[in-house]
Amino acid sequence: MKKIIVAIDGFSSCGKSTMAKSLAREAGYVYVDTGAMYRAVALFCLRKGWMTESNIDVEAVEKHISEISLSFKTSSEGKNEIWLNGENVESEIRTLAVSESASRISTLQAVRRELVRQQQLMGLQKGIVMDGRDIGTVVFPEAELKVFLTARPEVRARRRFDELTAKGEQVVFEDVLRSTLERDERDQNREESPLRQAADAQVIDNSELTPEEQQEVLRQMFAKAVLN
Ligand code: C5P
Repeated sequence: MKKIIVAIDGFSSCGKSTMAKSLAREAGYVYVDTGAMYRAVALFCLRKGWMTESNIDVEAVEKHISEISLSFKTSSEGKNEIWLNGENVESEIRTLAVSESASRISTLQAVRRELVRQQQLMGLQKGIVMDGRDIGTVVFPEAELKVFLTARPEVRARRRFDELTAKGEQVVFEDVLRSTLERDERDQNREESPLRQAADAQVIDNSELTPEEQQEVLRQMFAKAVLN
């Protein structure tokens, strides 16, 4: 059967990665979480002190971006985890602070250029499900299947809140909602590769869908795309 590229884009905390992961598992495809790549770059810059709450040392980031080596490895529990310069940073990149920093660092042209280059290399063999914000528009404009996933902001903030509190992070729902709205705003309005729906993307609004219903919709889209 022919192998295709599946591009899944959409707003933050829509459940893109859950959806992309289970499709990849079912299809025997490679799954790539591009958000994790932006998060790892943000973590690197935070640690180096190139990024504070109010400022980014753009020059330093541009100068050192090629020193950041990212890879994905499967853990013993079968989880796809991101490694930054030889260190597993999967859990460290999932905090609210790193989410916000990733959203800010992803506005830099040098960062996007480098990560898009790495992502395009990962897709050379096809058989890949990649999720992010610009996959169907910039990384793989020729992807055979493009999905744009969305849900109401309150629904997304509630899911993110539940996820963070389940991990023991002390957060207030209103802060998570505000952060969700701010990230939407930055993702949609940045100059470099803003989040937008590709003209040929198929939209799924999962506000009222169960994970199983959503997966079934995607399964059908995938089956059609493979046959085309
Ligand atoms: O998807 P996730 O929330 O993990 O992404 C973290 C941040 O990285 C997002 O807020 C977004 O600004 C940025 N991002 C991006 N382009 C991608 C994936 C993520 O700009 N392809």
